[in-house]
Amino acid sequence: MMNDIFKGYKGKALEILKKYNIRVWSEATIKTTRGDFKGIVLPRSENDDDLHIVLKLDNGYNIGIATNTIKQIKEFGYKEAHYKIPEKEFPTSEDKPNIKLFGTGGTIASRLDYRTGAVIPAFSPGELYGAVPELADICNLTTEKLFAVFSENMGPHQYKTLAVAIGEAISQGIEGIVIGHGTDTMHHTASALSFMVQNTPVPIVMVGSQRSSDRPSSDAALNLIHAVKTASESDIAEVLVCMFGPTSDEYGLLHRGTRVRKMHSSYRSTFRTIGDIPLAMVDRNKITPLQQNYNHRRKDTQVNILPYFEQKVSLIYYYPNMQPDIIDSLVDNGYRGIVIAGTGLGHVNKPLYPAIKRACQKNVAIYMTVQTLWGYTHMFVYDTGRDLMSNGVIPADNMLPEVAYIKLGWALGQTEDLDEVKKIMLTPVIDEITEREPYNGYLVFQGGVPEIEQFLKKIHK
Ligand code: ASP
Repeated sequence: MMNDIFKGYKGKALEILKKYNIRVWSEATIKTTRGDFKGIVLPRSENDDDLHIVLKLDNGYNIGIATNTIKQIKEFGYKEAHYKIPEKEFPTSEDKPNIKLFGTGGTIASRLDYRTGAVIPAFSPGELYGAVPELADICNLTTEKLFAVFSENMGPHQYKTLAVAIGEAISQGIEGIVIGHGTDTMHHTASALSFMVQNTPVPIVMVGSQRSSDRPSSDAALNLIHAVKTASESDIAEVLVCMFGPTSDEYGLLHRGTRVRKMHSSYRSTFRTIGDIPLAMVDRNKITPLQQNYNHRRKDTQVNILPYFEQKVSLIYYYPNMQPDIIDSLVDNGYRGIVIAGTGLGHVNKPLYPAIKRACQKNVAIYMTVQTLWGYTHMFVYDTGRDLMSNGVIPADNMLPEVAYIKLGWALGQTEDLDEVKKIMLTPVIDEITEREPYNGYLVFQGGVPEIEQFLKKIHK
């Protein structure tokens, strides 16, 4: 019993809690050599060290405070948390579309585990309905948990499994698909699915959240509602990413899977369409198209699943003074493809030329993209570009670096013939290469019009 009020604390950390008469769930101010911190003392798990006290701050973040920095702790309140989403059976009705939600993990499928203070995955139809009951007004939802990983752990195996599962659901007549996914690498998976799942008759909507559902500012519920609405009602039969448009919760944006990128580490409005404008806006009541050029929903159940991926492909981000041994070691380790994110129009320094030439002679496919993200590789403009092309580098037009990486893995997974790979790489599947980037794309919806207006108002007082 005694230990219960100090759940999980031991050694030095336990001593300090006892010394200042602080329990787990105390609201406390901790004075340290690094400043003062205010929050709720969280429990720890048996496996944690004994050198930190974990505090949940008002902004929702948990921090570990090293015991050797603590000068004093004062309790000013006590707030025991019980976290449990009520499980309810998801209701079905015949007049609603049948939607399938695949879970892969990430913050959207997570909740804070107060036992350990960690964010852990939690996902079941009952929990989802308990947490977001509005979903049942939109569709009949079935769920399948494919993985429970944070998205840095997604990779070729998961892409292929997901593509095959999507193919099965579509051939069984599902009317829309939602994929819950961590936001960090959602754009990699979105482009992998754009290539692996072609000619889909229904929307395939990826969704995540930047803040976990236990936090007041969580975007999890609204993103899920927007995504489920899109999967149920949208006419856009493509792989989409659905996340907050503006930083406020006014509307979500639907981004094409091959033109989207996570652009902010913590804003909820982190996803942006690059090289184009988003496909549509979505709110609780309606979906407003922003573009007319998209694949339309169909009634059939045909879809082409192409689950290929060569793992020995790398993406390197050029920096001044990069040394050729980076390229050499990839070649010597059996890599078959390299995408370079080059500077400017698609450049790297001269010392890399011989290594690049050697790589191409050894049948390594090398493609150039640009770090600027917006705009095209133009390798005829400067000598550097021309030299690189004569050494065998192929410009990838305006494919985003991550998209080119995924597409090269996908292409090399299908064939060893590098001419064939080149044909695949340079023939757009779904706007990963576009003929032009709209002049207004760089500005419109890249932060949301309301924020831009607010910003301008502040500047021109
Ligand atoms: N690290 C998490 C992930 O990508 C972040 C998130 O879900 O937003 O899985």
